[in-house]
Amino acid sequence: MINRYSSQIVFPEIGKEGQRKIEKAKVTVIGCGALGCIISNNLVRAGIGKIKIVDRDLVEMTNLQRQILYDEEDVKNKIPKSIAAKRKLEKINSEVEIEAIVSDVNFKNIEELIKNCDIVLDGTDNFETRFLINDACLKYGIPWIYGAVIGAAGSTMTIIPEKTPCLRCIIEEIPLPGTLPTCDTLGVLNTIPNVIASLQTTETLKIIVGEKNLNEDLITIDLWTNSFEKMKIERKKDCPSCVKRNYLALEGEEISYATTLCGRNAVQIVPRKKVHISFEKLEEKLKLLGKVKYNEFVLSFEIQDYEFIVFPNARTIIKGTTDISIAKTLYAKYLGI
Ligand SMILES: [Zn+2]
Repeated sequence: MINRYSSQIVFPEIGKEGQRKIEKAKVTVIGCGALGCIISNNLVRAGIGKIKIVDRDLVEMTNLQRQILYDEEDVKNKIPKSIAAKRKLEKINSEVEIEAIVSDVNFKNIEELIKNCDIVLDGTDNFETRFLINDACLKYGIPWIYGAVIGAAGSTMTIIPEKTPCLRCIIEEIPLPGTLPTCDTLGVLNTIPNVIASLQTTETLKIIVGEKNLNEDLITIDLWTNSFEKMKIERKKDCPSCVKRNYLALEGEEISYATTLCGRNAVQIVPRKKVHISFEKLEEKLKLLGKVKYNEFVLSFEIQDYEFIVFPNARTIIKGTTDISIAKTLYAKYLGI
């Protein structure tokens, strides 16, 4: 019988039985930017049973270059990304159950967001959230698929609890603010997310149909230099997350917290970890994007209608908004956590 999934049913590794499994599977996509859009689009067209899409942002004009589920109407009407994604995806496949959640992801809600699903997909743009996903998925024994893109490059790895290395086996600590390039400081081409998100989606389908040969290596691809690398990652013998089961991210210890500064049209973000920022390095990175000034006490950075006041310990006051989720997004964008 010909149906909408015929093309993947005749693919022998999936077949009729695989398709039935796909139609029963439940996945959560955390972050619906470039990767999240492509992953959700692929999975919904493949007939996934249920997809939960979580994102804290509204659709902006700069998203349209690569975030394929959104359009100018969404920007004009200030639609949250997860809602805009759901509306678009429902038109593509009405058989799929789609849940849109407009929320920041933090140590208080991550477990609730992931615990009843079969696989979690990383569509985020920061390591703070990735460590939350890592620890929550390990705790509940749920496979998750790391994905990240920047410039023309990206990487992905499949993490199966108890079997493969986890994110903390690669990176022990959450990288310090300002030390990592972000999409807003280095840009991103619209081609690389297609490649990384397609690898993530394929791994998802493979896990669902029971394929054993998964991607346990860290794959890194640079489309500009035509570089395709696979790095073997060893499981760390004393990994706090996957070996010692000490889920630090879920305790909130490493999580930054934000408070609205009353009457000042500003939000303050304080990292819980002790960090020390080099103003010199941060200035180098930010001066391409906006006005930066610093002295020995603070660095000020102006972009659009916002002003960042950054202290050496990464405490930051963002002027121009009282919305904590906007402030956290800006913090992640420009300071890199
Ligand atoms: Zn580990």
